[in-house]
Amino acid sequence: MPNDQRILIAGAGPVGAVTALALAQRGFQVTVLEAEAQIDEAPRAATTHPATLELLADLGMIDEVIRQGLTACTFQFWDRPSATLIAEFDHEVLRQDTRFPFVVQCEQHKLARIALDRLRQLPGTEVHFSARVAAVDAQPGEVSVTAETFGGARRFRGAFLVGADGGRSTVRKSLGIEFKGYTWPERFVVLTTPFDFAQERGCCFRSYFSDPDEWANLFKVAGDDGRGLWRAVFPTRNDESDDEALGDVGAQQRLKRFFPKPGPYDIVHRNLYNAHQRVAVTFRKGRVLLAGDAAHVNNPIGGLGLNCGIHDGVELAQRLVRYCGGEAGEEELDLYDRRRRPINIEFVQSQTVNNKKRLEEKDPAVRAANFEQLSKTAADPVQHRQFLLRTSLIESVSKAALIT
Ligand SMILES: Cc1cc2nc3c(=O)[nH]c(=O)nc-3n(C[C@H](O)[C@H](O)[C@H](O)COP(=O)(O)OP(=O)(O)OC[C@H]3O[C@@H](n4cnc5c(N)ncnc54)[C@H](O)[C@@H]3O)c2cc1C
Repeated sequence: MPNDQRILIAGAGPVGAVTALALAQRGFQVTVLEAEAQIDEAPRAATTHPATLELLADLGMIDEVIRQGLTACTFQFWDRPSATLIAEFDHEVLRQDTRFPFVVQCEQHKLARIALDRLRQLPGTEVHFSARVAAVDAQPGEVSVTAETFGGARRFRGAFLVGADGGRSTVRKSLGIEFKGYTWPERFVVLTTPFDFAQERGCCFRSYFSDPDEWANLFKVAGDDGRGLWRAVFPTRNDESDDEALGDVGAQQRLKRFFPKPGPYDIVHRNLYNAHQRVAVTFRKGRVLLAGDAAHVNNPIGGLGLNCGIHDGVELAQRLVRYCGGEAGEEELDLYDRRRRPINIEFVQSQTVNNKKRLEEKDPAVRAANFEQLSKTAADPVQHRQFLLRTSLIESVSKAALIT
């Protein structure tokens, strides 16, 4: 049954945009308020796992996501100092578990755009750019927000507010919700180059390199022209300045140390990110719900943060449709928090922390044990599948469904 209540969404990042689409497709009126003048194109998430592809298929986005992205069936773990391939995992073993036994590397700005394009075609939807949510007033029966726009402060009213306004969420802070966890001392530097690591070095589209001195991740994305770009992610040294990490000399040295080659790399983007492991102490306060990075942040190793945020958005739409349609009471809204918070901790926080530890481990004996375990897991068909059910978030979906 269509539901004509209006939902406000702070943030038109990928989570805000996909959540808005999920709500509008269920008949809600939706107002999206985005602080910036356009979608942020900074190189961040790309890896979209099978469980998330399932959700995007249900939202009618999958063909476009696959068309604009790159399909990656496998990923590899390397021991970088000895240049040894430790393990390769192939999503093909998930063929009985999902319609999408692969990962799609689709840059997050493309995902947000695909969702917003579809959203705009639905009735009762509004998307306002350059509208920064500055204040939240949550009452028992309504939420209103004040947004800073070019025309001055503007008030928007809705039945619910979704805070999808990223890690520094104004919505979360306005409600005084604690963001519990910690920030890693090192930062992550992302260097993007068209150098073809598949052809020149035999790397697959998702490669993880363990190194006690400086680990790395290497990913291929399609790029806006579809010709392909490679993103290499490294930790910075704790005493390293922004200029050292991002300047020409430092960036070239870093890439060449890892992947020596004659002549300089063509570096088309360079970015520096802080990395955190934090989870909001609650994902719901009255008529305000948090989703995506506003609710949880993690280091990017394993490509899980955005994926989990999309799962939040779809779950949130399912809960709101039942509550607003009169099929369930307040407990339905609490279920959103009861499911999504522990799922994030169990599947995203723990995996990303473990992934980081595995890549940066310094103790030779622990490194050797890690490698042995990884290669045994990859060699055993049952363990191989179990491992991928977890990394691809398929296991998290079945686990969430058991939480009532
Ligand atoms: C290098 C790197 C690689 C990553 N790779 C992956 C990956 O492969 N897979 C994966 O799953 N995750 C990955 N992540 C994590 C992923 O980028 C984030 O989880 C994702 O961006 C979260 O989306 P979001 O929409 O919740 O937040 P954001 O993308 O931060 O979007 C929030 C939006 O809200 C807007 N906003 C902020 N404040 C306000 C306000 N007051 N009012 C209105 N609008 C506001 C912002 O302008 C922004 O558009 C990676 C992160 C990094 C740094």
